[in-house]
Amino acid sequence: MTTSTTSDLGTNWAGNHTYAARALLTPGSVEELQEVVAGADRVRALGSRHSFSDLTDTDGVLVDLSGLPRDIEVDEGALTVRVGGGVRYGDLAVALERAGWALANLASLPHISVAGAVATGTHGSGDRNQSLSASVVSLDLVGPDGSLRTVRRGDDDFAGSVVALGALGVVARLELDVVPTYLLRQEVRTGLRWEAVERDLDAITGAGYSVSMFTHLDDEEVAQLWVKTHADAPPLADAVGLVGTVAAPQTRHMLRGVAVDAVTAQGGEPGPWLDRLPHFRMEHTPSNGEELQSEWFVGRPDAVGAIRAWRGALAPYVGLVQVAEIRTIAADDLWLSGAYRRDSVGFHMTWLRDEPAVRTACRAVEAALAPYAARPHWGKVFETPREELVRVHPRLSDFAALRERVDPEHVFGNAFLDRVLPEGAEV
Ligand SMILES: Cc1cc2nc3c(=O)[nH]c(=O)nc-3n(C[C@H](O)[C@H](O)[C@H](O)COP(=O)(O)OP(=O)(O)OC[C@H]3O[C@@H](n4cnc5c(N)ncnc54)[C@H](O)[C@@H]3O)c2cc1C
Repeated sequence: MTTSTTSDLGTNWAGNHTYAARALLTPGSVEELQEVVAGADRVRALGSRHSFSDLTDTDGVLVDLSGLPRDIEVDEGALTVRVGGGVRYGDLAVALERAGWALANLASLPHISVAGAVATGTHGSGDRNQSLSASVVSLDLVGPDGSLRTVRRGDDDFAGSVVALGALGVVARLELDVVPTYLLRQEVRTGLRWEAVERDLDAITGAGYSVSMFTHLDDEEVAQLWVKTHADAPPLADAVGLVGTVAAPQTRHMLRGVAVDAVTAQGGEPGPWLDRLPHFRMEHTPSNGEELQSEWFVGRPDAVGAIRAWRGALAPYVGLVQVAEIRTIAADDLWLSGAYRRDSVGFHMTWLRDEPAVRTACRAVEAALAPYAARPHWGKVFETPREELVRVHPRLSDFAALRERVDPEHVFGNAFLDRVLPEGAEV
């Protein structure tokens, strides 16, 4: 096991949070992990550091699971894969592809850890694609006393235990749904006007398996429409011709003036799912690394009203936005998911890295989206107060009660959970 002390724990990926934990431990086995947790008064799991706040931190010990065995094992009968708690999606995807299997969806980048992504309700896009968390079949959790327990889909506590913000224990292993490998095409189109988005939103988001709209919010045109379609689906032009878009003549980065090496192949050439679903290639730094991110989810029927409100609220802050993205996420049943029981539209912002200004802008967006009961992405920057979180997340109090039952001493507690979870939860 390797140990680091506070002076060298470093920051999150975005550099806007310096970890304040007493130490960082890297256990080499699940048994070592259990010993660390059993011996700690406060402990939390560190994933791949891609969340944008103090969500991951602790005043106790951080455990980095990248030293655990990867343990990637497909069960072809059950259509699942077992995977160690420190594995990143990019590595899992390569192993699955080699064996002829695939995941139904991925986020915009493959660099994130599976356990960390699942803990915050991370998602990709697609009218029929649920969050990545919804593909979890089971979790092996190390509880506050170091014991290992399995929570499976169908168990009473399962729906509360997947998007769990690290509050219920350290996930040592997960089991995920898999599908046979598939080929996708990725095409980028331009010329999409906001009036077409308002008029034809269903046609646009339904034009492919996974669709993203990128905008800089300073124009009457949405800057880019990224459409990922199954290789055997009809040509895209038929589907989106009605909204007046044209194929981009060259590869595009969604950020202005940034070299295109980091983005996955465009231009409609079919390729394996893992090389088309993420926007960014595994071997490159995603995005530009000098940024903060926020995202809010609203119910699909509210999408058009929310788009207007969101654009209006952001008008004074356009200079702070590097790029914004609109995606769709199918409903799931996970208590703290952004898409809990509602098909959703996500409004994402990649901001400049100016946190005070970003937090001011967040408050403006949250006020504008409040009529739509917008839920913030747990892993990104938000200002939503606890009372509003209770209003928009109908199971937040149930989650707090589950946490009291599983971790009454708050061994996995931290300042973030103190801010967001309702106080005085009863078991
Ligand atoms: C460039 C970039 C692009 C992004 N793109 C997307 C996107 O397309 N879609 C989207 O929804 N989000 C996106 N995100 C947000 C990101 O997916 C989430 O913040 C995610 O939680 C990051 O996981 P992590 O392991 O890197 O983060 P960490 O900060 O390391 O961990 C996040 C949370 O998971 C917990 N955790 C980690 N490992 C474990 C474990 N083994 N057991 C229990 N709890 C654990 C941590 O304690 C913490 O609470 C993006 C972020 C970045 C930086």
